[in-house]
Amino acid sequence: MVKIAVIGGGASGLACAIEIMHTVNNRDDVKVTVFEKLSRIGKKILVTGNGRCNLTNVNATQQGYRGDVEFSKYALNKYTPESNIIFFNELGLYTRTEDEGRVYPLSNQASSVLDVLRFECSRLGVEIVCDYQAMHLKSVFNGVVNKLVVNNRDRFDYVVVASGGKAAKVHGTDGDSYDLLKMMGHKITPIAPALVSLNCEDFTKALKGVRSICKMDLIIDGEKTLENYGEVQFTDYGLSGIPIMQLSRFVSMSPSNDIYINLDVTPDFTKDKIENYLFDRREFGTGICENLLIGVMNKQLCITLLKECSIAPNSRICDLSDDEIIRLSSLCKCWKIKIKTARGFDFAQVTAGGADCSQFDSKTMESKLCDNLFCCGEAYNIDGDCGGYNLQWAWSSGRLAGNTIGERINNAQNQ
Ligand SMILES: Cc1cc2nc3c(=O)[nH]c(=O)nc-3n(C[C@H](O)[C@H](O)[C@H](O)COP(=O)(O)OP(=O)(O)OC[C@H]3O[C@@H](n4cnc5c(N)ncnc54)[C@H](O)[C@@H]3O)c2cc1C
Repeated sequence: MVKIAVIGGGASGLACAIEIMHTVNNRDDVKVTVFEKLSRIGKKILVTGNGRCNLTNVNATQQGYRGDVEFSKYALNKYTPESNIIFFNELGLYTRTEDEGRVYPLSNQASSVLDVLRFECSRLGVEIVCDYQAMHLKSVFNGVVNKLVVNNRDRFDYVVVASGGKAAKVHGTDGDSYDLLKMMGHKITPIAPALVSLNCEDFTKALKGVRSICKMDLIIDGEKTLENYGEVQFTDYGLSGIPIMQLSRFVSMSPSNDIYINLDVTPDFTKDKIENYLFDRREFGTGICENLLIGVMNKQLCITLLKECSIAPNSRICDLSDDEIIRLSSLCKCWKIKIKTARGFDFAQVTAGGADCSQFDSKTMESKLCDNLFCCGEAYNIDGDCGGYNLQWAWSSGRLAGNTIGERINNAQNQ
């Protein structure tokens, strides 16, 4: 009997377990066991995509990834978004592609994604052991073959570390992958929370709940590091929303505390156009300043900008000075917000940094330090953009590890 342990019943671990059994054509002398720390597998899958599971992105290319992007290439090219959609189609799950290439299950329920994975594991005889935390890993060489021992108890021919990163501990991931890999001599690159909201300095709580389409530049030590565009969500602690979360890994990875986001809250207007709009409003406008920009932005956002410019929201529009109008229009185009920190791992969707990819073979996902030890998913120093990129990596790397193990078992039998 060939025994394989998959540590972690998340996205990559389940894809890996299924791919092993598909590759060996469901042989009954192959036993795959998925060990899961929590009381049930796939808890994180259930919360992805706000409960809808954005399971991949048809536009996913290397450009959407950070960390050791070169390492990710082989797996992502072998198991493309299309290949992963077919993988799910064959499990009976159909998908719909929405804006910006985001792919969701037709059911609109993340639970469907988990269910088809569970049902397939069950059909293939994959053993699922929950409430089991792998805490120890070592290899023993009996002079003939290398065996891997989990928790000083169970011996396996192959072990796959699929226990994720450190983001969202509530869903089972608290950095165990790193501890297990370190026990096998692997290096871990510095880790930081990614796809997370940002804490801002002296931020007004009054904006809580306001959403606004903005352009934004991330400025670190006076240099523009990245720009983005999309819907910003204002919270009582700072900034959130997809475009902000995309920038967050650069904030959390940076040692600097000189970090700003310059928000353009009127991206549809040039500086001249917003200035002319305000001069026109002064000429023809009646009423008070809090209504000055109601034609172009959320009223609470207008009140906040007025206060930033030291203009009383209840002052009369016709009394605005030229200087006040110029200052306000400048602020609309470039509102400089000081960033305190990225929020922590507990609030993050993924982990930036992780297992040092140079110690693994990108074509197999196998460790270069220990035969028959594999790793897949978020545990690696690879993180993707929002929009299905991270699950795409989880399925692709998990399937590649699974396929390699399956082929290896097939080849051994044919020798
Ligand atoms: C709120 C939220 C929303 C997200 N939405 C999306 C989305 O819509 N699209 C997208 O692409 N990505 C999304 N992501 C990111 C995506 O879910 C992860 O990148 C992906 O699940 C990583 O897969 P993984 O298999 O590497 O790890 P995980 O899916 O995290 O699975 C790891 C599993 O290992 C288990 N485990 C941990 N330690 C041990 C141990 N010692 N022993 C046994 N088991 C262990 C954990 O309990 C967990 O079940 C989201 C993440 C979060 C938190």
